[in-house]
Amino acid sequence: MTTTATDTSGAHRLSARIDELRRLRRAIILAHNYQLGEIQDLADFTGDSLELSRHAAQTEAEVIVFCGVRFMAETAAVLARDKTVLHPEPRAGCPLADMITAQELRALKGAHPGAPVVAYVNTSAEVKAESDYCCTSSNAARVVEAVPAQEVIFVPDRNLGLWVQRHTGKRLLLWQGHCPTHDRITAEAVQDALRSYPDAEVMAHPECRPEVLDLAHQVLSTGGMIRRAQESPAATMIVATELGLIHRLQQVAPNKRFTPVSRLAMCPNMKRITLEKVLWSLEDVSGRVQVPDDVAARARTALDRMLEVT
Ligand code: SF4
Repeated sequence: MTTTATDTSGAHRLSARIDELRRLRRAIILAHNYQLGEIQDLADFTGDSLELSRHAAQTEAEVIVFCGVRFMAETAAVLARDKTVLHPEPRAGCPLADMITAQELRALKGAHPGAPVVAYVNTSAEVKAESDYCCTSSNAARVVEAVPAQEVIFVPDRNLGLWVQRHTGKRLLLWQGHCPTHDRITAEAVQDALRSYPDAEVMAHPECRPEVLDLAHQVLSTGGMIRRAQESPAATMIVATELGLIHRLQQVAPNKRFTPVSRLAMCPNMKRITLEKVLWSLEDVSGRVQVPDDVAARARTALDRMLEVT
């Protein structure tokens, strides 16, 4: 779609008003790497789940406007208890995070007594509260290595779990969840892209299927891909993750070509947050994320163990 002059001036007006309110409320805007380009450009900080968690835990701002999906805003609310965390679109959830409930995890623990639980950060606060450790895609293998057990319950992403199992040699009891967006990326599509760009380097996110990861030169979190884009000698990089990352990659390495493996790899939930919704949220201080104290305290323990390991 072509951006018209009116669209551009409308976006400028929205951004200018957001800036005013950001100062007035002493707010910081955090955005995930899969957000719309205009949201990434507006944010004080854009990053992957681990980087955003660290930022939320350390910020001196009074208000955090979290542009991502719900579990990410919840994680910020757990790590920054004295801050007001706003999620501009409370209906923006993560289908992967919704694939396991705290009740289902309790049943799994009951079936495997003594096995520690590592929960991918893509889980609700209630599921984190039932877990011993959290992890992100950038530190999952390191966290599982650090767990003092050979048998570990790993929830909810089976593709990330299989990849971690392969790289740690530990036995993982895997929940069969998956990210619908990353699952749409196929090995055939990677092979097609490689036929078009035989010298390209392939970067894949560990939420992709194992056969896609087998074809990748690098398996990385989105933050890792941004670093790799700046370091790699390759002129063309084939990218197997959600499409929003291409915006950041082009900014950090403007002289390289970034080719997404699939135009279908678009997460509709990540795109629900718009400039208007950020503005409304700041204007009305709406979309406040509330996590009950007891759940937050237990979820915090699992998150802190992850941050200690990394
Ligand atoms: Fe969830 Fe996948 Fe969307 Fe990330 S890309 S928010 S894991 S559905």
